[in-house]
Amino acid sequence: KFITFEGGDGAGKSTQLRLLVARLAGEGIAAVVTREPGGTPTAETIRKVLLSGRVKSLGAEAEALLFAAARADHVDRLIRPALAAGEWVLCDRFFDSTRVYQGAIGGVDAGQLDALERVAVGRSRPDLTLMLDVPAEVGLSRVKARLEESGGVPDRFESDEIDLQQRRRQAFLDIAAANPGRCVIIDANRDEAAVAEDIWRAVESRLIK
Ligand code: C5P
Repeated sequence: KFITFEGGDGAGKSTQLRLLVARLAGEGIAAVVTREPGGTPTAETIRKVLLSGRVKSLGAEAEALLFAAARADHVDRLIRPALAAGEWVLCDRFFDSTRVYQGAIGGVDAGQLDALERVAVGRSRPDLTLMLDVPAEVGLSRVKARLEESGGVPDRFESDEIDLQQRRRQAFLDIAAANPGRCVIIDANRDEAAVAEDIWRAVESRLIK
């Protein structure tokens, strides 16, 4: 089974992914954990190019192609083989992030993104996508707190613009509404345990029972 976690910055994707891995392990299900952009050595190298502040100008199309290149390698070398071996794969972000960041926000044509998706992903599509949803202000304040705690700097995509965060949120919700068979919206504006419980219910009802 292939599960992706999607949502804006500060929605809690990485935390909830870890909690789900632990829960699955308790049920005797081992999962491969991965992320995008990245997941393989080559794709992690592309990630550095995409996220570092060193890249000053990159058009939305070039950006979409780099994400697609990273994804093609990731699917080819890690995701597809794992699924073929019967393993579960849990991925922090996947093609919905591209549809939102490079598509709905960046302006890359949806049909072109579909074509890139066919090349990079083929039939290795997620069985379940968990859309972690938080109000824009909540996501922003979580990212701010995380950066203050770590002393880190925002990546190229992290922005403190409330309006942008709001548009990204809506774009994820639109994808979920258009793909009800695959996507479940999770109200992630609650404590970790409550969110994890909702996620577990979605996984159990859709993929286990
Ligand atoms: O989730 P994580 O912080 O690892 O994602 C890295 C960054 O890449 C995020 O800030 C996200 O906005 C951006 N991204 C993107 N397009 C994608 C995937 C991620 O702009 N397709």
